[in-house]
Amino acid sequence: MSLSFSIAATDGPARLGTITTPHGEIETPVFMPVGTLGSVKGVPQHLLEELGVQIILGNTYHLYLRPGHEAIREMGGLHRFMSWDRSILTDSGGFQVFSLNELRKVSEHGVEFRSHLDGSSHFFTPERSMEIQIALGADIVMAFDECTEHPAGRARARESLEMTSRWARRSKEYFEAHKHEVPWAFRIRKKKTQDVSTPVSRAGESAREPSSAQPDKSSGVGRDVGDETQSLFGIVQGGMYSDLRRESAERLLELDFPGYAIGGLSVGEPRELTREIIASTLPLLPKDKPRYVMGVGYPEEIVEYAAMGVDMMDCVLPTRAARHGLLFTSEGRMNIKNARYVRDQQPADSKCACMVCARYTRAYLRHLFVSGEPLAAVLNTIHNLSHYLDTMRSVRHAIKLGELRAKLSEATPVTEQTS
Ligand SMILES: [Zn+2]
Repeated sequence: MSLSFSIAATDGPARLGTITTPHGEIETPVFMPVGTLGSVKGVPQHLLEELGVQIILGNTYHLYLRPGHEAIREMGGLHRFMSWDRSILTDSGGFQVFSLNELRKVSEHGVEFRSHLDGSSHFFTPERSMEIQIALGADIVMAFDECTEHPAGRARARESLEMTSRWARRSKEYFEAHKHEVPWAFRIRKKKTQDVSTPVSRAGESAREPSSAQPDKSSGVGRDVGDETQSLFGIVQGGMYSDLRRESAERLLELDFPGYAIGGLSVGEPRELTREIIASTLPLLPKDKPRYVMGVGYPEEIVEYAAMGVDMMDCVLPTRAARHGLLFTSEGRMNIKNARYVRDQQPADSKCACMVCARYTRAYLRHLFVSGEPLAAVLNTIHNLSHYLDTMRSVRHAIKLGELRAKLSEATPVTEQTS
């Protein structure tokens, strides 16, 4: 089993669950910090572990350009390369190709684009995206999709979703044919060869016999990962049209993915529309599989979407905002560079239990930021991530107690969704 999802409790449409990947367990609903280039900017891996991060994101586009997926494959995959033994998800590269490249050329075959680093020309196809993501070796990989721009007319959104559907099929076909090439498969085979102490001439086959495999200690969960591979999720597109979203979801369901994402949101549309699309798309996705909304959101949004039944979310917001001096707190947003904090002895958030709030004052955080000290980004990021992770912990706790909707109505002014 490469990915399993179990639901322990529900509260309305919200679900408390556990996703198990070859690299451990993830409690859901989960917020996934973004580690674009194999690093959650400013925060080393041992601190991410200490914060309780169970899964991070890597960006296929960026890692393909630098250091290159072949280099990462040779280093044993992204887990080994960055020394992160917990779960990883990589995006397909589609979003960056579409958002960072104005000169891209899209055809049925794929997308030609220029590197934002040196202007060199590259070509991504669904097959190429899969090949790169298999080399990177994340536990969860994403089908190659076209992120439909906003605003997009109906005809354009339909054409785009139809191509995304065909690309999803090509992604799946390539993935199924090549998924055993993931770098940790070689690691397991090598380890098994060492463990049995006698030479194994057909190690590749023996690695697929789960009953005799040794646990992989580096996985942190002591389980046999010998027969496990990555898992490929499909992405629902369809612009801001509920009926096109339905069509996209129906086509993806035919391909039977182990999890589904709602993509093409947070592309400049009003928040109410984001919410509307999520609300109308979620019921179309299987209840027994993880449901992932890509690229959201503010703390109050992730609570709201979890309450609607979303299991996974990711966003650069807590990390990017931190580097600009914007802190998320229980009292709202705080701009730490503000002169009013010059002699403020309080922690950034007196209700926050994070290592930054336990130790440093607003005055010190402000000083670091206005002085351009690199530590400012580190401490601000640790606090913001803690705030997001604690928010999701309290959401999970509330689902367990059946109190999420009560929590939602007191925490956010937005009207409750009906479902
Ligand atoms: Zn804090």
